[in-house]
Amino acid sequence: MNRAQDAIKKIVIVGGGTAGWLAAATIGNIFKNSQLQIELVESDDIGVIGVGEATVPPIINILSSLGIDLAEFVKATQGSFKLGIKFDGWSQQGKSFFHPFGSLGRTINDYDFFQCWLKCRAEGDNTPLMAHSPEAVLAEQEKFFIPFEAQNTPLARVLYALHFDASLAGKFLRKFAEGIGIKRTEGTVEQVNQTEDGTIAAVTLKSGQVVTGDFFIDCTGFRGLLIEQTLATGYDDWSHYLPCNKAVAVQTENTGATLPYTISSAKEAGWTWRIPLQHRTGNGYVYCDKYVSDEQAKRTLLESVDGKLLTEPRVIPFTTGMRKQAWVKNCLSLGLAQGFLEPLESTAIHLVSKSIAYFIQMFPSRHYQPALVEEYNRRIAMDYQEIRDFLVLHYCTSQRDDSDFWRWCRSMKIPPSLQYKMDYFKASGKAIVSHEQLFQSSSWYAIYQGMGIKPNSYNPTLDLWQPEKLQAILDSGKQGLIEIAAKQPSHDEFLVKYCQA
Ligand code: FAD
Repeated sequence: MNRAQDAIKKIVIVGGGTAGWLAAATIGNIFKNSQLQIELVESDDIGVIGVGEATVPPIINILSSLGIDLAEFVKATQGSFKLGIKFDGWSQQGKSFFHPFGSLGRTINDYDFFQCWLKCRAEGDNTPLMAHSPEAVLAEQEKFFIPFEAQNTPLARVLYALHFDASLAGKFLRKFAEGIGIKRTEGTVEQVNQTEDGTIAAVTLKSGQVVTGDFFIDCTGFRGLLIEQTLATGYDDWSHYLPCNKAVAVQTENTGATLPYTISSAKEAGWTWRIPLQHRTGNGYVYCDKYVSDEQAKRTLLESVDGKLLTEPRVIPFTTGMRKQAWVKNCLSLGLAQGFLEPLESTAIHLVSKSIAYFIQMFPSRHYQPALVEEYNRRIAMDYQEIRDFLVLHYCTSQRDDSDFWRWCRSMKIPPSLQYKMDYFKASGKAIVSHEQLFQSSSWYAIYQGMGIKPNSYNPTLDLWQPEKLQAILDSGKQGLIEIAAKQPSHDEFLVKYCQA
């Protein structure tokens, strides 16, 4: 049974990037009227990674759970709205597809929409799947509006996320966290002090200051100062599934309309991102240095950007994978200290937030509780594996054979967990997902379809229905979407009004 003296009284967060400040803001907000103290130590000399500008829809819930006004956040971070990702040249050069957030059409007579669409295709209908996605139709027309819910139309289901300036978002979160009483200490941690059993007792800064705590959260980025350099948890390297190991990033001036989606374009040895913000565009090339040199990668990136350069291209190396244990003794790792999956589906900030949510659910006492730690680590590993498989799907299904990199992808060894899902999809036209997963069936269908993976079958009981009726429902839904989307403001018009209000 718990005793009051066993409660954690002080958490020390080491690192003040997005992970550190998001942890401080979230945990601080939940315990703001309690006796829990939180101190965040960050080093101005080391600084933050400064990338990480695209998100997935749970970001909207994260902000609202903190009581942050969305318009204020968008304004402060020069943000824009994101309805999904446009993938250029992934299945074949010259071919594009869209991965929208949110579900595709509604269920019809309790049948999954995708099954109905497959049935209509089998009957000769040529309508693309994305003609039934509210987000894809809005994105195509470069429109945006909130709250869609108020309209009581098919757009009410629209899901969206944000693009934002990472350094402005960091500042915003810091201000928020300091505003709710989080103590910030500037300094570089030089030493991590452990007790005999390896538990962390304190960190010593370069200045000689010692910061003690009951529990420590490692947000020191790729260094993993506590979780790896001190506690040596080990790293599961997934480069054999996702071989990209570097990114080069550059910021440019805006040239055209602010698109309500991210663009990911496949290149010779990886892919480039384009993230539209209000005041500039974020660009980068994620590549595998076995197939292209840093210099060539920089050239490829610079050839693909529009607009004047605002920064020099910066190369960032990484190793895809995750810590063998995200939580060890009295130390939890978050963000880049926990693991890294390339930003193809913009999942890193979401993983930080989900990790914090698990931690709050399993909040420990000062005594080591192996069952909590084990369950936490199991869930984190499942989340990483789910996203890893989803990312691998984008590569292993490519039909490109124009470079060694893409030829490698075509013949790569597929994770057995993904192979299982792909086999099931091919046999049934259905995705295997659980409710807790970030990427639900629609996301899997979007990638399967976009990459040209066709199932051999659809639900055979659909043949018991009259195909004309099904087709009529699909046709009227499609037409309705086009018309309603056309009535919305453009993303730029919306942003101006939203940020002025
Ligand atoms: P960092 O930003 O590196 O922060 C580390 C902190 O630790 C800093 O404050 C540093 O000063 C401090 N620190 C380190 N050592 C010490 C020490 N000894 N003493 C004191 N302080 C110390 N995520 C997304 O969600 N969407 C994206 O589109 C996206 N794109 C990405 C693109 C690239 C190329 C990369 C590499 C990452 C991307 N990410 C993206 C991931 C995202 O950038 C990170 O998850 C996020 O920024 C969190 O970083 P962090 O806080 O873990 O680390």
